[in-house]
Amino acid sequence: MIEILFLLLPVAAASGWWLARRELRGKRDGGVPSHPDFLRGLNYLLEEQPDKAIDTFLKLAEVDGETVETHLALGSLFRRRGEVDRAIRIHQNLIARKNLGPDLRGFALYELGQDYMRAGLLDRAEGLFQELVEVGLHRLSALKALREIYQQERDWLRCLEVAGRLQSLTEQSMVAEMAHYHCELAEDARRKGDLDGARLSLIRAQEVDPTCIRAAMIEGMMTLEEGDPDQAVVIFLRVAERGAAYVSEILPALIEAAQRARGYDPRGLLEDLAARHPTSALLLGLSDLVVREVGEGEALERLTLYLSRFADLSVLERLVDLELRMAPSGSGEAGRIAVVLEVVRQVLSRQPVYQCEQCGFQARSLHWQCPSCKCWGRVLPVQPEPILQDSERADAMSA
Ligand SMILES: [Zn+2]
Repeated sequence: MIEILFLLLPVAAASGWWLARRELRGKRDGGVPSHPDFLRGLNYLLEEQPDKAIDTFLKLAEVDGETVETHLALGSLFRRRGEVDRAIRIHQNLIARKNLGPDLRGFALYELGQDYMRAGLLDRAEGLFQELVEVGLHRLSALKALREIYQQERDWLRCLEVAGRLQSLTEQSMVAEMAHYHCELAEDARRKGDLDGARLSLIRAQEVDPTCIRAAMIEGMMTLEEGDPDQAVVIFLRVAERGAAYVSEILPALIEAAQRARGYDPRGLLEDLAARHPTSALLLGLSDLVVREVGEGEALERLTLYLSRFADLSVLERLVDLELRMAPSGSGEAGRIAVVLEVVRQVLSRQPVYQCEQCGFQARSLHWQCPSCKCWGRVLPVQPEPILQDSERADAMSA
C-alpha cells in the first residue's frame, strides 16, 4: 500500500494538500488514512479525474464523517474546481470541531485562508495567515500567502516586512524583490510630489540591491526633471551598461539629457552605445538623429548594415518607411514599397514587445512584476535574433 501512496504523492501534492499533510504528520503515525475508498479517491486524482475523486470522497464523508483527511481533500478539490463557497463551508466546519488537534486545525486554517484568497476576501485571508504566523503553524506558507496579499493590495511597506522575515526564515535571497518594493514606494512618493521621500526610497533600493536597474532608471528621470542633465546622462549611461535590454525605456530621456547637457554629442553617444549593445531601440533612436543631422541615405545604410546582422522587424519597418519617403511620390516603386510597409506593420503589431524570461508571458508594455508568474524584474524587452548563416539555419530547422 505504501508504494501506491508514493505513486500518488505528486498528484496529491499538486492539489496543495498532500505535501502539507505529509509534513504535518511525518512518520509519527504513518500519516495515511487506510480506508480503501480514500485510496480510490486519490487514484482518481492520479488519473486526473477530479469529478470522480469528489464523488468518492463525498460518499466516504457520509459513512465516516470524522475523517479529517477526507474533508481536507474535498475542500482542496472544490477550490481547484472554482467551487469556493463549498470549500469554505468544509474548512469552516472542520475548524469548528472541538476535538481537532492544533496541527490539523492549523492546516484547515491555512486552507480556509487559501479559499478566502481565491474568493477575493483578502481581509479575511490576511487575518487567518497572520494568526498562523503568530502561533507558529505553517509559518513559511502563511508568510508567502501574506506577501501575495500585500502585493495585490500594493502595501509595499508590509511587503518589505514580510520579505525580510521570509529571507531570515529560508536564507533565500529576497533582495531583488525588496529593491522593487522600495522602487514602488519611490514611484508612489513621486506621484504625490514627495521628491525627498522618493529619493530616500531609491537610496534604500540601491542599498538593498546595488544592481537594481529600476532604481537607477527612476533616479535618472528625476535628476533630468530636476534640471541636472549632466548628472542624468551619467546615471542613464550606468543603466545602459548594466542592463542594455532596458535602454528602450530610457532612450528619449537619455537623448534629451545629452542634448541639454554640456559636452555631450547625442549622436556620438548613441553610436558608441549601439556599437557595444546593438538593440532595436538604439538603432531606431540613432536613425532619427542621423536623418535629422546627416540625411536619409546615411540612415538607410546604417539600418541595412544592422539588418544584415539581426532579424529585427521594427528596424525593417523603419528601413522600408525611409525607402518609401525617398521613392518618387506617386510612382509604381512607391506603391510597391507602401504594400511592403503595410505587411511589415501588420506582422509587427502582433509581435510581443516584452517577454517574461521566467514563464514566457508576452506583453506589449513593461511590467516590473510579471502578471502571470508574479516574479519581479523578469519581463524584459524582446531582443532581436541574430541572422543565421545558411548552414546554421539548416541546423536550426532540423533541431
Ligand atoms: Zn512570468
